[in-house]
Amino acid sequence: MAVTERLYYSDSHLIEFDARVVDVTDRVSGWTAIVLDRTAFYPTGGGQPSDTGTLNGARVMECIDDGDNGVLHVVQGAAPSRGAVVHGRVDWSRRMDHMQQHTGQHILSQAFVTLFNAPTKSFRVLEASCEIDVELNNPTSEVIERAVELANNVIWEDRAITIRNVTSTEAAELPLRKEPARDGDLRLIEIEGFDLTPCGGTHAYRTGEVGMIGVRSWERAKGLTRIEFVAGTRALADYRKANKSAREVAALFSTGRDDAPQLAAQMVEEHKELNRRIRALEELAAEVEAEKLLATGSEGVISQVFDGRDAESLKKLAHALMAKPGIVALLASRDKDTARLVFARSADARGDMSSLMREACAMLDGRGGGKPELAQGGGKRVDLLDEALAAISRKVTSEAHSS
Ligand SMILES: [Zn+2]
Repeated sequence: MAVTERLYYSDSHLIEFDARVVDVTDRVSGWTAIVLDRTAFYPTGGGQPSDTGTLNGARVMECIDDGDNGVLHVVQGAAPSRGAVVHGRVDWSRRMDHMQQHTGQHILSQAFVTLFNAPTKSFRVLEASCEIDVELNNPTSEVIERAVELANNVIWEDRAITIRNVTSTEAAELPLRKEPARDGDLRLIEIEGFDLTPCGGTHAYRTGEVGMIGVRSWERAKGLTRIEFVAGTRALADYRKANKSAREVAALFSTGRDDAPQLAAQMVEEHKELNRRIRALEELAAEVEAEKLLATGSEGVISQVFDGRDAESLKKLAHALMAKPGIVALLASRDKDTARLVFARSADARGDMSSLMREACAMLDGRGGGKPELAQGGGKRVDLLDEALAAISRKVTSEAHSS
């Protein structure tokens, strides 16, 4: 079977090439896998996503490493035939982005080894960021930022990145950052005076091409520290996004971007304090309201339907009324689409509020219950609320007379 010469091994910046088609296989309808005698397309592998591009203008959607069978170029639409010479073009912005992330990972991983002897266990390029899982004990933002600083210094020193092909015997004598994943001859990526590691991916010519590295977030995951980072153009995109968010928040406080966190914290504190004061005022208001309602009641039964009061507000009023002697309070509210009810009685009054509540709720297509002295509930039939409350009120009054 055909073996594809992998041009990306020797030149990561080569994006145009000519090659001969050595195999064509139909996949699903409209999709064809093309094998070439040579290719600059990098197939998915080693945490780095596949290149995309064109072959004679046909769209290359993905490339798959088929080992000794070569690289499969999955083409959508009209595919070239076996034996044809085709012109390939790799999407440069996507390749450049992947090289920045991937090379950035080599640098950041070595920074964690240099500073904290913390090796990287896995690496993934995600949609807008990347992840590494590092054997880092006791991670803190300060510790992680020290590694980020070293990594960026290495980037700005613009060190050369070279490829060395060695035998496994030679490799055994070298200070590799990680163990080779396979036997035999090895391809080593060397960052001048900083890092040496076996890798089959595509890398920048010099560290300066990576631009910069920033850490978005980190968390502990399965005994490791998972670090989400961005490099190169992704770092710029992420900075723009973060700056926009921060400025939008600052605008809400009519302040500068960097003063917003302090003002936001202050506002949260004020909000808590205001809530405490509102609760205290509500208690006072319930007292006053209870006095007023007492004047409207006859024979100790107070029955009242309100508009737009929530359950909490009804309960406060019920508590204020319960504190008076000889009272049965039947309170209800039309709260948007819901009928809310709270029934309460004084310790010296008679009646089971819980069973009255169940009765009322049955009329309102709802549910409710509680204790003999205090019960609450609700239902969907807001239209029947007045009627239901009047019925319960009559029942309480007649029971009072019959005793
Ligand atoms: Zn690599």
